Amino acid sequence: MKLLHFSTPDAPQLRLGALTERGVVDLAAAAALRRTDVPSTLEDVFALGSSGLAQLKALLSGLPASGPWLIPDADLTYGACVPNPEKIICVGLNYRLHAQESGAAIPTSPILFGKFNNSLAAHNEVVPIPAVTQQADYEVELAVVIGRECRDVPVESAFEVVFGYCTANDFSARDLQTRTTQWLLGKSLDKFQPMGPYLVTKDEVPNPDDLWLRTWVNGDLRQDSVTSDMVFDVATLVSYASQHMTLKPGDVISTGTPAGVILGLSKQGVPYLKAGDVVEVEVQGLGRLRNVMG
Ligand code: ZN
Repeated sequence: MKLLHFSTPDAPQLRLGALTERGVVDLAAAAALRRTDVPSTLEDVFALGSSGLAQLKALLSGLPASGPWLIPDADLTYGACVPNPEKIICVGLNYRLHAQESGAAIPTSPILFGKFNNSLAAHNEVVPIPAVTQQADYEVELAVVIGRECRDVPVESAFEVVFGYCTANDFSARDLQTRTTQWLLGKSLDKFQPMGPYLVTKDEVPNPDDLWLRTWVNGDLRQDSVTSDMVFDVATLVSYASQHMTLKPGDVISTGTPAGVILGLSKQGVPYLKAGDVVEVEVQGLGRLRNVMG
């Protein structure tokens, strides 16, 4: 299932939807019309686990071909697909060629750092480049979303605590990232972590360690790799993080980016991002996330 948050011109409050072959379904509106009870927030879906997803699936499969719960594309404004994570855990230098282009050694332990909720942004949202940076850069990433509270998760059962996956862009201000030894400032600017367009449940992603992922800037392909090139795979990252901190439903692990970022390409004269640039990132099966730099 593909879950998303959206608003419409007549109802600006973000609500939960599902992308189907027919378009985006307003789940609460569909449930009200069908007089059935389903989880209406992502928190409720996490809390109910597989029974919540089963309720949503039953609702979707019972809907007629059209109805007022189907939102026309023109009325649709996306929200971040995971609106309120307690933690956004990012992984640095997790692809071999990216470590090389960054002039860094391949890590022997996962390099974890954090971002805050101020960095969340949605599909199609403008990402402002503030005056404090001249080196805004993109990073396509596979983001893992945790579905249940957990601690000390063994690698072998790591997928049990995963809810699903989404495409993410770990926008980075390289001048701020490298000004001191701490990366935080270069990673935590407002709206510098768009995620979406939607959140895909894990049953639709049989092997997250074998997906292609790509970035385009104004239509030019910049990053083109596969998650099988990750230094630490998804299960290892979930297990590793959980050995150090309690993971909560909705927590995000952004698993790192492959080669092809401007940090590496700038040696060949490729300029950093500027207002008006259209940046698109996509992970196989998880949808293409588009943002315009402001
Ligand atoms: Zn990153």
